[in-house]
Amino acid sequence: MRFDQRHLLGIEPLRPDEITTLLDLSDKYVSLNRARDKRSSTLSGLTQINMFFENSTRTQASFELAGKRMGADVMNMSMQASSIKKGETLIDTAMTLNAMHPDLLVVRHPHSGAVDLLAQKVNCAVINAGDGRHEHPTQALLDALTIRRAKGRLHRLSIAICGDIAHSRVARSNIMLLGKMENRIRLVGPATLMPSGVAELGCEVYEDMNEGLKDVDVVMMLRLQKERMDGGFIPSEREYYHRYGLDAEKLARAKPDAIVMHPGPMNRGVEIDGTLADDINRSVIQEQVEMGVAVRMAVMDLLARNLRARPKEVMA
Ligand code: ASP
Repeated sequence: MRFDQRHLLGIEPLRPDEITTLLDLSDKYVSLNRARDKRSSTLSGLTQINMFFENSTRTQASFELAGKRMGADVMNMSMQASSIKKGETLIDTAMTLNAMHPDLLVVRHPHSGAVDLLAQKVNCAVINAGDGRHEHPTQALLDALTIRRAKGRLHRLSIAICGDIAHSRVARSNIMLLGKMENRIRLVGPATLMPSGVAELGCEVYEDMNEGLKDVDVVMMLRLQKERMDGGFIPSEREYYHRYGLDAEKLARAKPDAIVMHPGPMNRGVEIDGTLADDINRSVIQEQVEMGVAVRMAVMDLLARNLRARPKEVMA
């Protein structure tokens, strides 16, 4: 079992065997989370600080639960109400927290690259919980775990990632992870929601949803990231739903056992039909949430092992 990372800043630096190590350990945590007694002492004595500069429901809750189940002292900083509002820079905030000797820092930030910058300034392990439109590594790992458990493998699958690819860190991290594990990736959506340089991503690109979904094993829907749009990317939500919203009719183009995924939060009736999202025979959206806790436990477990193996850095 090898995992050589000091931080988890993205999927980009991970090797395929490190991804497999993470997913194998996550499977063990899925079992623990299903047991009556869910506690372990893996992070006992360690301090985990969650700094969310952007709203989050699932990700923040699951990092908090993961840390608590493993015995860490967990603190949630409400960054909306913090000194940032009083003009403190990200680096000043990081240095202040660093002085409190955290061991694990979980950070979400609206700017791409902000988490990398912060990681250069602190002594602890940093986990990227989503930075701008750059990366959301734990989301891609939980998606991979969900796919591997549903399909029995994580290679040579045909996976359609659909919708607002351009603004989505979930799409970026998934494209990297699923590509490293040798899957066939299709990007499906209107040209206005494709990232620039899409041709270099090594994926097949489709503007027509019916063509894009043909015979795929996995349909991964994305939220329209309106908060990152500064103009008219779609004619109207009604028109978007008509062309790109996933419903039973469009899903019929995929393989009969294709699974439906969505990272949440969902806009029902915009990118996905509500009844389909709740259909437990097709949708694995609730499994994704369950896998999220296990993956975050595995990530913090592996980073803590590496942290403990290093000589403690003394601050100047
Ligand atoms: N929750 C995911 C994220 O933080 C997806 C989304 O917001 O649409 O990127």
